[in-house]
Amino acid sequence: MTWTEHIEEQAHSARIAMLGELTASIAHEVNQPLAAIAITGETILRRLNRAEPDPEDLSILVRRMLSYSRRAADIIASVRGLARRSTDTRTAVSLHHIIQEALAFLNHEIISRSVSVRFSPACSLPEVYADRTQIQQVVVNLIVNAMQAMTQPTGSPRLLGIRTVRPDAETVCCIFEDSGPGIEEEYFGRLFESYFTTKECGMGMGLAICRLILEAHGGRVQADNGSAFGGARFSFALSVSAVAQH
Ligand code: ADP
Repeated sequence: MTWTEHIEEQAHSARIAMLGELTASIAHEVNQPLAAIAITGETILRRLNRAEPDPEDLSILVRRMLSYSRRAADIIASVRGLARRSTDTRTAVSLHHIIQEALAFLNHEIISRSVSVRFSPACSLPEVYADRTQIQQVVVNLIVNAMQAMTQPTGSPRLLGIRTVRPDAETVCCIFEDSGPGIEEEYFGRLFESYFTTKECGMGMGLAICRLILEAHGGRVQADNGSAFGGARFSFALSVSAVAQH
C-alpha cells in the first residue's frame, strides 16, 4: 500500500466511524420520542374503545402525539446540525423553559417509574445563546440516566433534584442529583466516551452526546458522586456572555 492509499484508507475509516456515531446518536436520541408516540397511541386506542369516547380528551392526546413527532424530527435536524458544526439554529433561550419542557416530555416516564422530581430554579437566570433542541437533549439524557440509575428496588425513595445556579456573572449551571447507587470509581475516566455503557441494553451514546453538545456551545459537563440524595451528580455549565457576543 502506498502512503497516499494509506492516508485515504485512514480518512475512509474515520468517515465510517463518524457515520457509525452519527447513526448511533440519532437512534439513541429518537428512541425516547418514538416510545412516547407508541405509548400515546396505545392510550388513544384504549380510550376509543370506551363506551363514550371523549373527543376533547382524544384531541389532547393526538396533539401530544404530534408534538412528540415534531420533537423526533427536531432531534434528527439538530444531531445533523451538530455533525455539520452548524450554529445557525442558536437563539437566546431560557434554561428554565427548556427544563420544564423536558420534564413535560418525560412526565409519563417519571410517573410510571415513581420518581419524585424537585426542580429548584435560580431566582433570575439570564438566557443563554444556544440550540434549544440540543440543550433539551442534554437535559433529557441526564434525567433519563438518573431515572435508569434508580430502577433497582432499594426501598429508598427515588429522588431527582434539578437546580439551576449562577456561580458567577458569566456562567449558568444546571445540576442533576439522584438517589441512585452513584458512579463506580473505575468508570469516571470513561463515562463520556462514545459506546461506554454498563447497562445490558445501553448504547453508551447519551453522555457522549451531552459532552459533544456542550463543548460545541463552549460549555462543559461533569460528573461526581456528590448528590445531596446519595447518588450521582451531573452538572453542566454554559456561558452567559455568549448572548452578548451574538
Ligand atoms: P447508556 O445510558 O446507554 O449506558 P450513557 O452515555 O448515557 O449511555 O451513560 C454511560 C454510563 O454512565 C452508564 O452506562 C452508567 O454506567 C453511567 N451513568 C450515567 N448516568 C448515571 C447516573 N445518574 N448514575 C450512575 N451511573 C450513571
